[in-house]
Amino acid sequence: MPPIRVPLLSQDQIARLPVRAREVVEYRKSGLSLNHIQGCPLDCAYCIRHTYGLWDQRRPRALMTDAEAVKELVNHRYFQPHVTPVQVFNRATDPFLPSVRPHTFAVAEALDARELTNHVLIITRHQMTSDDIDRLNRLRHLRVTLLFTYSGIDDRRIEPYPSHVAAESLKLMSAPRSRRYRTVLYWRPLVPGLNDSPEQLNRAYELSKHADATVFTGLFYRDQIAEYYRANHLPEPYGETARRKVVPETLEKRVLSAFSGSRALFRKTSCAVAFAHGLPDYNGHYGIRELCDICPARQVKLCASTHRRPEAEEIQRAASSLPDARDLVVEDITDRAAVLSGLPDEQPRYFLQHGFGFQMHDAAHPHRERRHGRADIGWKVPEQ
Ligand code: SF4
Repeated sequence: MPPIRVPLLSQDQIARLPVRAREVVEYRKSGLSLNHIQGCPLDCAYCIRHTYGLWDQRRPRALMTDAEAVKELVNHRYFQPHVTPVQVFNRATDPFLPSVRPHTFAVAEALDARELTNHVLIITRHQMTSDDIDRLNRLRHLRVTLLFTYSGIDDRRIEPYPSHVAAESLKLMSAPRSRRYRTVLYWRPLVPGLNDSPEQLNRAYELSKHADATVFTGLFYRDQIAEYYRANHLPEPYGETARRKVVPETLEKRVLSAFSGSRALFRKTSCAVAFAHGLPDYNGHYGIRELCDICPARQVKLCASTHRRPEAEEIQRAASSLPDARDLVVEDITDRAAVLSGLPDEQPRYFLQHGFGFQMHDAAHPHRERRHGRADIGWKVPEQ
């Protein structure tokens, strides 16, 4: 029986989608993201679909064919062969829903057929099967990482699709001794009072032993998500919203203590992915030295060996190929990061960050010491 695929939308239907939903290729921090399939029935209350005007879209549908989508991705102005990390269906659906799975494989196989060696990140909480192992093992060139979203949240109003499914998938996919892809326990979202009891932290630690690496992170508590919580009388995790993920200081300390026996725990997704493949971090987090204090010594050495501070002229030259980076100004460069202004949004910044493997920060949104890429919520304000 041929696999079930998702229905293809007409041009009229596509024209009626919210503007952001129509952008099938978008640069997000962990990579260039391909999203030509949109819609998900799993209903996690904190889903990022809220912010794309797609929350009500529960049935996956395609905006174009897989072949067209792959063409759009590899011809995109931000795509660099063998360099740009790619994420497949990480914004609006789950890549291993039964009807989406054939599309996920079609995309991966089309990229692999081009002999591309880019990182490909596939984030799922769905059930996987032993056939998935065989099919992923047939990919010869791509560096594929499966990231299993696991929270341990048992409030079904927040997460109706139970976390134990992702835990079982992680164990299944990590079991083969020889495999071409890597597995990451994507432990998120961690929310104080909801899923951070000592038993829950310990359960996550036990699960992490199956994965090649673990990354922990908090909740993206954006305005649209907070509105949904209020409208549905769900317990609000925080009294305010933020543009970055929330990981309060005391929670981080407790996670580190629960994982004191781990040799593969990371604060950043790209660090976990890079470590799992024996490669340096492609986001250049090595510059933010305090992030590396939990990283294995061998990995720190590897990242150090490739860390290079680019010159302002090199950054300007690389940006000159992008029409949207015409007004770029390199404000400052230190060993930690280059600070940029004049860009319309974050996308060209990620293009430069991945091209140089060096942190590129937005002058308008400075990072605070020890809180890199995280919201201020739950951290003591340093005294002036
Ligand atoms: S050394 Fe630092 S940058 Fe490199 S993987 Fe470890 S934590 Fe990330």
